[in-house]
Order: sequence, then C-alpha cells, then structure tokens
Amino acid sequence: MAAKREKYSDEEHSILYAETGGICPLGKESLLFTKAGARKPQKGYEVAHIYPLNPTAAQAAALAGYPPPTDINGLSNVIALCPNCHTKYDKQFQVDEYLALKEIKHGFLSDAKARQNISRFALEKEVYEILDLISAHDPADDSDTTLSFDLTTVEQKLKTGMSPLQKREIKANAVDYYIRIRDHLKQLEQQDQFAVLLLQRQVNTYYIAMQQDQPENKDLVFNYVAQWISEKTNKSLLASKILASFFVQNCEIFSVDPL
Ligand SMILES: [Zn+2]
Repeated sequence: MAAKREKYSDEEHSILYAETGGICPLGKESLLFTKAGARKPQKGYEVAHIYPLNPTAAQAAALAGYPPPTDINGLSNVIALCPNCHTKYDKQFQVDEYLALKEIKHGFLSDAKARQNISRFALEKEVYEILDLISAHDPADDSDTTLSFDLTTVEQKLKTGMSPLQKREIKANAVDYYIRIRDHLKQLEQQDQFAVLLLQRQVNTYYIAMQQDQPENKDLVFNYVAQWISEKTNKSLLASKILASFFVQNCEIFSVDPL
C-alpha cells in the first residue's frame, strides 16, 4: 500500500525553511522570491522526501541495502528544495544524490541541535574581557621573541580526530595568542580565582556536550564551541575561535595519549 504524504504545519515549514538558511541545499537557489511589483515574498520551495515516500521499482532496487527511515514523513526525512531540484531529485533518482542529501540533512539537524544548546549553558562574564583583548591584539606587533610558544602540548592534544586544516588553525591561534590569554587569565585569577576556574569548566563542559552529539567529528565540536562563545557574547567569531583554541589545551576530549 502506498504511504500517504503528510501535510506539514506552519511551524514545521518554519523549521524546514530555517535550517536551509533560505537557500536550496542542492542548487543554491533562493527559497523565497518576490514577483516584480509584488509587496510580499512567496514560498519558492517544496518539501521533498529524502528517502522516497513511495519508491518506484527502480528506486527500490537502487536503494537495496539502505533501510528506509522509521518515520518516512518525519522531519528528519524531509528537506526543503526548490521545485526544479525537487523534480530532478525524484525523477532522476540516484543513490549518490540520496546519500549526499542525507548527509546535508544530518548537518542541518546537528547545527539546529547545537544552536538549541546555546542558551542552556552558562558562560562567565570574564569571557567578554578576554574576547576584547584578543580582538585588540595584533600578533604582527609581537616582535618580542620571548613570547614564543612551545607547541608540544597542543600537538599532542590534536593527535587524533581532527582535519589537518583545523589543526593548523588551532596551532596558529596558539602561537599567536596563547601566552597573552594565559597571562590575562593569571591576572584575572588574582582578582577572582573561582571565576576563572568556572570559566574553564564551562568551556570544557560545552566541549564535552558537543562531543557527545558529534563523537566522530572534532572539527565540528571545535566550531560549535566557538559559535557558542560568539553567540553568547555577541562578539566576533574569529576571536571566539581563538579562545576556543586556547581551551583545547586543558580539555579532556582532546586526548594527550591515545592508546
Ligand atoms: Zn534547487
């Protein structure tokens, strides 16, 4: 018997539209448009099933070995696509494209989950000062070589689970900023020892929470931590990435000695 197509509510449409950022995940077309002379934008997308709702014989054969989702109409199996890409996806169905779209949707769901966590986790106010310090500092002015930083610990910490590009960014951040941040934290500690300890614990807790959701992807874990700091403080994402790099040193999720 053919599975029935579900009618999605306005709220579900909001979720499906928002997760795309307003852009068709396949062809990158805008998912809203305004007709010439019109005042209001119109919906330019359709809700597409990633795993086909009622696979044709050819689709079923192509999908052998890929189990259907438990809830075929569930939000995790549908995605907003522009009408052209939707038609092409269904009519010229290819397993490669199915897997690619599934991966895109997985990313959307992870991002949404991470964003929902932003408000749940506290962050000490001291972090504002540190981000301002990072933003104001120009490493090009560091002619003083006594500030050179030993990368051994960072390299040990990043031994496994990160892409070379992400490692490179974190190492560069450590070289340029580690000592400044450390010295600033030492000063803060003299004023309020517990605030600094609490801040370290908070960042580590967020690292662990993100790691729980993304055990296989340390790049993403790192970026979610940086985004959280940036969203929480309304400060620059670049400065937040530098601070997140700093906390890699004493974060348990980065193993010093993986056996
Ligand atoms: Zn499209």
